[in-house]
Amino acid sequence: MGVDEAIGDAPVDRFAQSAAPPPPKNSAKSAPRNAPRNAPKTPPKTPPKARHAAPAPAPANAAAPALDGIKTLAELAEAVAVFEGCPLKRTAKTTCFARGSEEAKLMLIGEAPGRDEDLQGKPFVGRAGKLLDKMLAAIGLDETSVYITNTIYWRPPGNRTPTPQEIGSCAPFLARQIELLEPEVIVLLGGAAAKSMLETTEGIMRLRGKWKLYHAKERDIPMLATLHPAYLLRSPEAKRHAWRDLLVLKARLDKLP
Ligand code: URA
Repeated sequence: MGVDEAIGDAPVDRFAQSAAPPPPKNSAKSAPRNAPRNAPKTPPKTPPKARHAAPAPAPANAAAPALDGIKTLAELAEAVAVFEGCPLKRTAKTTCFARGSEEAKLMLIGEAPGRDEDLQGKPFVGRAGKLLDKMLAAIGLDETSVYITNTIYWRPPGNRTPTPQEIGSCAPFLARQIELLEPEVIVLLGGAAAKSMLETTEGIMRLRGKWKLYHAKERDIPMLATLHPAYLLRSPEAKRHAWRDLLVLKARLDKLP
């Protein structure tokens, strides 16, 4: 089965369908970005089952940046670009901070930039990114309604899985990125992102499809893990699981005010 083929139980190419379901209502944030930062947000209606704090902190020997003074995502991107506490920066060509809309209600967090991302300086722009775009299109989303980043901002040599130390060194930035974006929902793409954000060693097959809570400074954000598009490229038979997760996600987004 090719990457453009069905992921559901029925033989339909839902990722590639041009007549995708209509966009979830209000898939872009309606509140202006300059709304008071501590304005109350509607709590999720279906209470997720577990709570999770910010991703694993930087190890003690890494420069732990003070990020509270950073008030915009643009400032944060600059702070990441000059950060020297992650050794991957030395081998990477570019810093991949994010792509998508800063007004998005949905934030997606992947593992790490790959070769194409390292060349272009943006997350998910290679083959896996193309599949991710199709998956999002299948539930009516695109770059104007999502914000995409990774657990780390620099490509690991040879695309190896980032170490817990590497993820930990970027974690304060990711935590601030979440605070500044204020997404309504977070999706974790693949095992590395899921394990680090959910602080567990459990496998992605057990973690996927279940709502958890990310405990940000001012509120809890529902968080859903699903399969990584690069894994789906290698194992197209797993697309049916990803399709289920996407429908769960869409149902949640549709309920947002
Ligand atoms: N895989 C990821 O996890 N992130 C990217 O940006 C690209 C591929």
